[in-house]
Amino acid sequence: MMWSIYIIGCCFLFGLVIGSFLNVVIYRIPRDLSIIRPPSSCPTCHRLIKPWENIPILSYVFILRGHCAGCGSPISLQYPVVEAFTGILFALVGWRFGGSFQTLVFIAFTAILIVLSVIDLQTRLLPDVIVLPGLLTACLLAVMTLHPKGAACWSTTVSKAFFGMAAGGLPLLLLAWGYLKLTGREGMGGGDIKLMFFIGALLGPGKVLLTLFIGSLVGAVAGSIALKLAHGDRHTQIPFGPFLSGAAWISMMWGDGIIRSYLMFSDLAG
Ligand SMILES: [Zn+2]
Repeated sequence: MMWSIYIIGCCFLFGLVIGSFLNVVIYRIPRDLSIIRPPSSCPTCHRLIKPWENIPILSYVFILRGHCAGCGSPISLQYPVVEAFTGILFALVGWRFGGSFQTLVFIAFTAILIVLSVIDLQTRLLPDVIVLPGLLTACLLAVMTLHPKGAACWSTTVSKAFFGMAAGGLPLLLLAWGYLKLTGREGMGGGDIKLMFFIGALLGPGKVLLTLFIGSLVGAVAGSIALKLAHGDRHTQIPFGPFLSGAAWISMMWGDGIIRSYLMFSDLAG
């Protein structure tokens, strides 16, 4: 009990710090800037951020009060929100998977999903420099299970990763191809398709199908509400990445239980 509280607390604090870094990544990747250098500065007056102004959440609330200490221009609420959100999600992963190898991988996966969601919301892009290394890492983890020691700490085997990629990527690939043939326009972004290959390689076929199901369902409902509110037409672009990412995170956390209860209920119904 004490041990698990300790893990959850560490994951939360680690998440706050990583969240602060994710804000840097979210700002710099779409602008093709290095994520390591130079140190962070105010986008308006270019004043360097002092270390005590860089403490997750606390600096924003107590020291800066939402404004740059140099020029006073407002700092986006995105910064503390991403920090807090990352802390909470990391803590939940620590609570769910404890002190295990899975926790490490899923924390990294959570960070990637957060970055992709915010970048997609802001730019309608899912950058290859984030998705493709993720896909490669997922494939390497699957290869690792060929060794008994690897199989002991990671459950998505090579065949599961392969069928996961097929189940996650191919439906969207077909859909995009069909849409292009019918309308001559690109409907689905290539980024969404690559993201689904990545999720499939990491989580396997069952959870990637669950991701597709939850993501499309919530995305369709939320998308039509957003279109109504924004008075958009069918050419308005709705980012699909945040829905797929959220659905992938839920599948990662509780997919086994959801799939098991679905099978149980369909057994009862049949
Ligand atoms: Zn400033």
